[in-house]
Amino acid sequence: MKLTRLTAVLAASALALASLSAIADVPAAQNVPFPGSLKITVDATDVARRIFRVHEVIPAQPGPLTLLYPQWLPGNHSPTGPIDKLAGLVVTANGKTLAWKRDSLNVYAFHVEVPAGATQVEAEFQYLSPQDRRQGRVVMTPEMLNLQWNAVTLYPAGYYARRINTEPSVKLPAGWQAGTALEVASRDGDTIHFKPIDYENLVDSPIYAGKYFKRLDLDPGAKAPVHMDIVADAPKYLEVTPEQLKLFRNLVQQMYKLYGAHHYDHYDFLVSLSDKMSGNGLEHHRSSEDGTSADFFTEWTKNVAARDLFSHEFNHSWDGKYRRGADLYTPTFNVPMGDSLLWVYEGQTQFWGQVMAARSGLWSDEHTRDTLAYVAATYDRGRPGLASWRNVQDTTNDPVIAKRAPLPYRNYQASEDYYSAGQLIWLDVDGQLRQLSHGKKNIDDFAKAFFGMENGKWDVNTYTFEDVVKTLDDIAPYDWAGYLRTRLDGHGPLTGGLASHGWKLVYTDQPSAAVKAAEARRHQADFTYSLGLSIGKDGSIGDVLWDSPAFKAGISPGMTVIAVNGHDYDADDLKDVITAAAKNKGEAIELLVKNFNEYKTVRIDYHGGLKYPHLVRDTSKLDTLADLLKAR
Ligand SMILES: [Zn+2]
Repeated sequence: MKLTRLTAVLAASALALASLSAIADVPAAQNVPFPGSLKITVDATDVARRIFRVHEVIPAQPGPLTLLYPQWLPGNHSPTGPIDKLAGLVVTANGKTLAWKRDSLNVYAFHVEVPAGATQVEAEFQYLSPQDRRQGRVVMTPEMLNLQWNAVTLYPAGYYARRINTEPSVKLPAGWQAGTALEVASRDGDTIHFKPIDYENLVDSPIYAGKYFKRLDLDPGAKAPVHMDIVADAPKYLEVTPEQLKLFRNLVQQMYKLYGAHHYDHYDFLVSLSDKMSGNGLEHHRSSEDGTSADFFTEWTKNVAARDLFSHEFNHSWDGKYRRGADLYTPTFNVPMGDSLLWVYEGQTQFWGQVMAARSGLWSDEHTRDTLAYVAATYDRGRPGLASWRNVQDTTNDPVIAKRAPLPYRNYQASEDYYSAGQLIWLDVDGQLRQLSHGKKNIDDFAKAFFGMENGKWDVNTYTFEDVVKTLDDIAPYDWAGYLRTRLDGHGPLTGGLASHGWKLVYTDQPSAAVKAAEARRHQADFTYSLGLSIGKDGSIGDVLWDSPAFKAGISPGMTVIAVNGHDYDADDLKDVITAAAKNKGEAIELLVKNFNEYKTVRIDYHGGLKYPHLVRDTSKLDTLADLLKAR
């Protein structure tokens, strides 16, 4: 029996019966094997015009057929499949063109009628990848490309994605090399034929290919090899020092010590070093997309803050891909995902991404603490929206609500705070486990128990909130449901994990090295915890903290600072003015700001001085943060 999932939804709605006839039949997915195999051929040679050309052969039987373009993307946790860039769709059977009709209620579904006598249809289309970043991630340059299979495939409705077999192949520009978790069956010139794989895992196995390519072995001699496949804008960026290589090898071993198991038969970090192709951080079961700046290795110190990208994405192989929230694991890419457990998926991965950066040596303890201070300050004073109207649980809806679009008042609206707020919750959990067990247990025990089973298996192992609670309770009995719900559903504070680890958050008039580096990277001066805003080099105002002195004075993010106390805007001069106003309460801070074509002078009544977050030791308690960050 074929079920239509839309029918149920709409029957319950107030729509007139007459409109039901307009609902096309999108068959619900069944957990049965798809008969046959999709033969997918992608021509990725047109990097000059940034066009992927797709040809698919899809086994079919006479009657109605619905082809789907993936809408809900794993890792994005949102309905962001780039359907706006699919063009030129032509469907044929037995050499005759079939008329296709897009579903009137689901723009990702295409209906065709397969004629009598046909055993397959052929679909051809182009994926017109972005020409500039306003259209999305740029994924083709003269030197490299990033192929994501969800963007270049249609698949038949009616079957679980993992029950559809595929035989993929790709033609690359002449002489290019490729990194991917897919296994190569054969190579014929510049065309690579991959071994058959189910559609769910095909979408989970992107390709990074390039003119300049390097492959590093991160676990020599291992039964489950781990490699780093790097493409770069130019050969000079491929220089990786032995010291750098050692840190990434440490990362692999530290992860194995943490979890005691891994969930792949081989793993590839797919790395792009580019200032042309857009950056990326996207997890997969047996690979990750790690797109960073061209000079990541060659300007090692400057790029310190970007290094936890690798530990973060690698951690997702355990947390997110293997163990996945039950509501997030859908049978196809066109069924809505439930994001309620992203505070585990992304929150704990944010936590381990930074802890493992420290344990592997990618980050110093000092850099890790400075970064933690920055995160803690955000949830101490920098998210007035979470203290007033939203909570962390509700932010798990943001991949669907905001889809990473820029927001007018980020700090007040809150968005995807389950990452960093989640990180602080898990730091708090670690402290609580240590306290309950008198130092015998900690969050490493949770990691091993929750993510470290079934070594080598890489199917999906789903979990619920109750499973998280039970695992914690098995380690140290406590009201964990109440503990977690208070933090997820309440309005803070979320910084309790600092105190339990023997550290305090303080604000001084000196920025930490991590804050200075963040300022340099963003080309901004950060006055968030003093005036309540950040200002770009050109005076453009970034986020303005809700209810801060700047906000109360009438400043908004769209304005530009032209002058401070009668002189051209300069970040260092503004710092001096803030310091002077703290010493002498009579001293004013006057900003000349431009709003559209209007100029006005804004007087900010602020005498608290410069303020930047730092962690300082509370020597009355043990430094268990040092233990957390120590290599195992
Ligand atoms: Zn992540």
